[in-house]
Amino acid sequence: MGAIPDHPSLHRIPPGYRTKLSSKAIEIIARVHDWVENECIPADHIVKAQLEKNRWAMPPYIKELRKKAKAAGLFNLFLPNHFKESPGLTILEYSCCCELLGRVYWAPMTLNCHAPETGNIELLAKYCTEEQKKKWMQPLLEGEWSSAYSMTEPDVAASDATNIACRIRREGNEYVINGRKLYGNWMANEDVKFYILMGCSDPDNPDPWRRHSTVIVPRDTPGLKMVRHMTIMGYDCAPEGHGEYLYENVRIPVENIILGEGRAFEIAQGRLGPGRIHHCMRLLGQAERAYEHALIRATDVRKKPRGKLIGEFDSNIERLATMRMEIDALRLVVLNAAETMDLLGNVAGRYAIAQSKIMVPLGVTKIIDECMQMFGGQGLTQHTFLPEAWTYARFVRIADGPDAAHRHQVGRDQLKTAAQVRMKHLGYKKRYHQLAKEWGVPATERFEYVERLEKL
Ligand SMILES: Cc1cc2nc3c(=O)[nH]c(=O)nc-3n(C[C@H](O)[C@H](O)[C@H](O)COP(=O)(O)OP(=O)(O)OC[C@H]3O[C@@H](n4cnc5c(N)ncnc54)[C@H](O)[C@@H]3O)c2cc1C
Repeated sequence: MGAIPDHPSLHRIPPGYRTKLSSKAIEIIARVHDWVENECIPADHIVKAQLEKNRWAMPPYIKELRKKAKAAGLFNLFLPNHFKESPGLTILEYSCCCELLGRVYWAPMTLNCHAPETGNIELLAKYCTEEQKKKWMQPLLEGEWSSAYSMTEPDVAASDATNIACRIRREGNEYVINGRKLYGNWMANEDVKFYILMGCSDPDNPDPWRRHSTVIVPRDTPGLKMVRHMTIMGYDCAPEGHGEYLYENVRIPVENIILGEGRAFEIAQGRLGPGRIHHCMRLLGQAERAYEHALIRATDVRKKPRGKLIGEFDSNIERLATMRMEIDALRLVVLNAAETMDLLGNVAGRYAIAQSKIMVPLGVTKIIDECMQMFGGQGLTQHTFLPEAWTYARFVRIADGPDAAHRHQVGRDQLKTAAQVRMKHLGYKKRYHQLAKEWGVPATERFEYVERLEKL
C-alpha cells in the first residue's frame, strides 16, 4: 500500500479506514471536498436568495452546478457497483463523500445524490423490470425528473408499516387507490413526476407481511389531490417540501406495480439500509461545520464576556473537547456500519445500521445545540446555518423510522441473547464451586444471581 495522499478531505477519516479507500475513491472524495468548499458553502446565500423568488423550482444556481457535475463525472456517485453508470464506490467510500456533502443541506442535490432520489433510484434499480426502469428510473438518473416515496399516513402508526391502510384494489387491468398520505415531496414542484406508494392490497392475508404492495403513481393521475403543504419545524424545505395527499379512486395500470402484489416489505427493507447511513454521514458533515462555528466564536476578539474570550472559560474548553470526541466517535459508528454492509450485506448490517440511526441524529442534535449555545443569540438566527442544521438532525430522529423503534428492535434482539449469557455465568458458578473445593475455600453466595447448579 502506497503513501496516503495528504488532502484536507481525508483528515477526518480515521487511518484504519483511509487505508481501505481505493485510489479512485480518494480522488473522488477530494474532488467532492473541493466542490463543496468552493461551489457550495460560499454560495449558500445565493441559493437562498434565488429560492425567495420561486420556492418550488430548483434554483438556477443548483441547476447550473448539476450540469457542471454531470460533465465532470460527479453525478450519481451513490450508485452501487452493478450500475453501468456507477463510479464504483463502496458504501464506505461513498459515505466519506456524504460527510463532505452534508456540510451544505442542498449540496447533495448538485450531484444528484439527495434523498429521497437515491433511495428511490436504488429501489427502482433493484426491483423493477427493464421496461419500468427505462420509463421511471432513467429520467431520475439523468436528473431530469424527481420522485417521492409515499408510505406514511396520518391515521396509523407508520413506524410499524403493517398498519399502512391506503387501499390498493385490482379492477381488471387497473389498480384503484384510496387513502390519505403524509409526506412525499411537494407536488407544487413540477419536477416531481411520480410517487412510489406503499398501500394495502390484500388486507385479509393471514401473513401481515404479505398484505402490502408498492406501486408507481404518476403525478397527474386524476384523483390524486394535494391537501396541504407541511412545514418541518417551521421550515418549508423548499424547493422539495413535504405534502399531505388524498388518493380518491386513483386509477393506475397494473404494469405500475413493482415486483408484484404483497411484496412491499421486501422492497421497503431493501431501500432503507444505505439511505440511513447516508443521512448519518451527512449529519456528521453538519456537525463539523457547526463545530467550526463554535471554534470561530470561541476565539472572536470582539466577544469578551468578563474580559475573556469565550474559549477561555473552562466550561467552553471542555465543551469543545467533548464535542470533538463525540463527532469522531460517531463517525466510527457510521463507518463501521458502512463497512459491515460492504462486507456482509444490509441484513447482516442490521445492528450496525440501527446503532448509527439511533446514536448519530441524537448525538448531532446535542452537538449542534451546544454550538448554538456557545455562539450566543446569533446562533439561533438566520445569520448562521445552525438552526437549519439542528432541524435536519432533529428530523432524522424520526424520518426513515423513529429511533425509538430501532432501540426497541435492538433491545429485543439483545434480550434474545440472555439465555446464552445465563449459561455462561452458570459455567462460571460451576467452575467457582470446583475451584473453591480444590483450594479449600468455603463457597459463598458468589454467583447466586444465577440459578442453582442442579439446573446445569
Ligand atoms: C422530515 C421528514 C421527512 C419524511 N419523509 C417521508 C417520506 O418521504 N415518505 C414517507 O412515507 N414518510 C416520510 N416521513 C415520515 C416518517 O417516516 C414517519 O413519521 C416515521 O416512520 C414514523 O411514523 P409515524 O409518524 O406514523 O409515527 P408513529 O408510528 O405513530 O410513532 C410515533 C412515536 O411512537 C414511538 N414509537 C414507535 N414505535 C415504537 C417502538 N417500537 N418502541 C417505542 N416507541 C415507539 C416513537 O417515539 C415514535 O416517534 C418523513 C418524516 C419526516 C420528519
